[in-house]
Amino acid sequence: MLKLHNTATNKTEQFKPLSDVVKIYTCGPTVYSYAHIGNLTAYIYWDLLIRSLRMNGFKVKRVLNMTDVGHLVSDGDEGEDKLEKGARREGKTVWEVADYYIDAFIKDYNSLELIKPDVLARATDYIEADIKAVDLMAEHGFTYETQDGIYFDTAKFADYAKFANLDLAGLQAGARVEFSNEKHNASDFAVWKFIKPGEKHAMRWDYLGKPGYPGWHLECSVIIDAELGGPIDIHTGGIDHIPVHHTNEIAEYHAMTGRELSKYWLHCNFIMIDGKKISKSLGNIYTLSDLAERGFSPMDYKMWVLSGHYQGTRNFTFESLEGAKARRLAWRNRIAECYQKEVKGDNSIDKVLDAVNNNLNSAEAFAVIDGAALSLDDWKKVDELFGLRLIEDTPDIDDSLRELIDERQKARDAHDFARADKLRDLLAEKGITVRDTADGGVWEYLY
Ligand code: AMP
Ligand code: ZN
Repeated sequence: MLKLHNTATNKTEQFKPLSDVVKIYTCGPTVYSYAHIGNLTAYIYWDLLIRSLRMNGFKVKRVLNMTDVGHLVSDGDEGEDKLEKGARREGKTVWEVADYYIDAFIKDYNSLELIKPDVLARATDYIEADIKAVDLMAEHGFTYETQDGIYFDTAKFADYAKFANLDLAGLQAGARVEFSNEKHNASDFAVWKFIKPGEKHAMRWDYLGKPGYPGWHLECSVIIDAELGGPIDIHTGGIDHIPVHHTNEIAEYHAMTGRELSKYWLHCNFIMIDGKKISKSLGNIYTLSDLAERGFSPMDYKMWVLSGHYQGTRNFTFESLEGAKARRLAWRNRIAECYQKEVKGDNSIDKVLDAVNNNLNSAEAFAVIDGAALSLDDWKKVDELFGLRLIEDTPDIDDSLRELIDERQKARDAHDFARADKLRDLLAEKGITVRDTADGGVWEYLY
């Protein structure tokens, strides 16, 4: 029985699907730079969500979007489009920037052994549907036009503040000073932006006889409608999405269809690095390539992420990553042990599954694994559940290595320690060590 913490009700609830196929939508990256390790945590946790749903026998259809237009530098309606910013920084076209960072994202995604989404939706492939949605919202009386674009009138949606428990009166009062544009309410947001004469914005589409582009939130409401059909079962994102992005997606979907967008909402927390926010000015933005340069694989990072709960605040340090890497090696060597003697499981694997079913408590599941006796079949389940590639990365050794190990044992038995040491060095070159125990030598991987 899978239980999940639902942001919409602020309760941990038993998951009950709406239909035979569980529909899931995940807000994806804005593809204007490499994903940093903070961005990637969400995809790792939501991969665990998909795997645990499958483990519970559910069929899943999952959509992930790529924001290649319309996400401004701030979450509001001011500032530059992130893609335009990336293009200016790199002296490329916005389309080249989007293509390049979509490829980079997919590479990172695959290297983390994450289950591929059923649909990878690029925002600019849905402009026609965006325009239809804007028309529909206008028809239903939820929008108004300003010189800047088409705005959503949040006062028209009675439940606007509900999802994020927003203090709209406070927001209105706080915004009054700079609230000089044509917006009716401080919380109103653009569903479509007009491009002013002379404004540089390469991605542009004609609507109402003027060039423009969609507001950031619209793509998600529209892609969900086009690819899944709402209400969906589960919508996921980062906690920063709650007050603006997801609140606005819900409002748009209501205005378009009169329907609820999603039954369950899951949000993961932010990670810190050395106790600080991840930011350019602090120079602490790391990508998977940065970690690789320091000798850590994507699987080491995934191990680090899953060693904590998705709702907890996590503090990343290279020391803790070292710990995650060592834990992974220790687990792999327990698999190696299974090749050398029969290891009987003590049924702890059920407790691992229980922990994951309890609101994806991977931290607890990992603690159970540390103290459990797991058979090779149990390890296969661990891999299926967490996608850590433990078995694939721990092949059994071949006959030539086995001979070297036997020879070393014979040399030791004959007290020929010089030869035994030489053979040990030879094995070490091949990444293998032999640990001497009361029952004889046990080979292990060194890294
Ligand atoms: P950005 O492209 O910077 O807007 O980031 C995309 C998404 O990544 C954000 O909306 C967050 O949900 C997520 N994110 C950014 N920073 C972190 C972090 N430090 N920890 C976890 N998630 C993050
Ligand atoms: Zn979204």
